[in-house]
Amino acid sequence: MLELFADGQAVTLDQVLTNREWRSAVQQQLEADFPDQVVVAVKLNIAGPIKNSPKIRQIFMAGWQVIKQAAVSDSAAIKKVHVDEQRITGPEAFLVLDGQLKKWKQELLRFEEDFALGRLFDCDVMADSAKGYQLSRRDLGLPPRRCLVCDEDAKVCAKEGRHPLAAVQAASNQLYRDYFVTDLTLPAWSQDFVVDAAVVACLQEVVLAPKPGLVDPISAGAHHDMTVMTFVDSAVALRPYFEKAFELGQDFSQAEATDLLAALRPEGIKAEQAMYLVTDGVNTHKGAIFTLGILIAAYGLATQDKELTTLQEVLNFVQKISANVLTDDLVNSAHDRQEETAGHYQYRTYQLTGVRGEVAAGLPALAQVGLPTFRDRPGTVTNRLLDTLMALAGAIQDSTLIKRANTPAIVQQMQGWVDEFFDLGGAETTAGQKYLTALNQTMIEQNLSIGGAADYLILTIFISRLSGLLS
Ligand SMILES: [Zn+2]
Repeated sequence: MLELFADGQAVTLDQVLTNREWRSAVQQQLEADFPDQVVVAVKLNIAGPIKNSPKIRQIFMAGWQVIKQAAVSDSAAIKKVHVDEQRITGPEAFLVLDGQLKKWKQELLRFEEDFALGRLFDCDVMADSAKGYQLSRRDLGLPPRRCLVCDEDAKVCAKEGRHPLAAVQAASNQLYRDYFVTDLTLPAWSQDFVVDAAVVACLQEVVLAPKPGLVDPISAGAHHDMTVMTFVDSAVALRPYFEKAFELGQDFSQAEATDLLAALRPEGIKAEQAMYLVTDGVNTHKGAIFTLGILIAAYGLATQDKELTTLQEVLNFVQKISANVLTDDLVNSAHDRQEETAGHYQYRTYQLTGVRGEVAAGLPALAQVGLPTFRDRPGTVTNRLLDTLMALAGAIQDSTLIKRANTPAIVQQMQGWVDEFFDLGGAETTAGQKYLTALNQTMIEQNLSIGGAADYLILTIFISRLSGLLS
């Protein structure tokens, strides 16, 4: 079965018709409740009997995020928001907005036309005060809606039944693949949206539980000097730094991308100071300051004067920005061994390049492990994030883990634990949850922690929010 329709349930014509009546009733009620506002109804056009599935919901939420942000950035007063993404007949949402009917019709027709997945969306815009008013695509100078399969006028294709269902489904699946799989699409968001996503990524990482050896709301894991509260303070203290990183990327105009890292470094040092100040000297987010700062700056750079970018483009910039980081920081750097950091020690002792090696390589585990795991694992967001953390822990050479174990051999041990966890079915299963709890205990007893995987999870959450995979 095409991945878009996997784990979906077929609906009957009766269910579709009943749903149409339900939608119409909701719209009428909203118009009655808000006679002077614009009522927007958003749904998907998914051909065939399966109209909802985990991946259909990903499409819907990615577009819904763009629509909501259009309302926010327009500072339109939002009177009501209602989302029902689990409906068997397909996800639906309603938005009641202040403003001109015509303006919102225009905005949403453009969304359907311009947004990469917009061809799968159907936005209905109405206002009680403007009954009978119709604004067509032609009135706006837009071409007719194009068919998913052949690019001709979609209405004609539908009316004449030009394409078999399998062809339409395959075309919808291809849109999904182009956006989420081949190279994740990242719209150009406002600074506020990006910075919020960064802070939220730090907060969501720490509230996730049970995380082996790491701090969560239930336990401090193998960390004796911090709690979940320390992390909350720290995440919020990093906000000005994330703002600065985005601005540096957006405004960057020099020829050498490595100059962007040179500009970011003093900001990173200030961010570390801000972190130490609120945590009373505890290192909560030093790794994230480095990797997430570079990722944000790269995203800012990749979206200069653009409507969208892709993950690959952003990661290429990460690589370019960090091109000299290994030679500058590790190879040519002489340190007094008393003051040597874990990163320098591991490079000198085991030739491991740690977090610097990760950015210089373009954060490979993000595109290859973190994001695909989060996208494809079954279950709740929490369980998918736990699976993602474990997949990352099994894929990277975690410098926190190596430091705690004082040997790189721990990496293999960790891979074994991760394999056992996934053999049990991962976080969505009772056995998987029990395993995580037991592993947490083992790691606390052995004073082990997967701080590097946790940093990668922060990056995964951040990019997931920018793509709409997580909202
Ligand atoms: Zn066609």
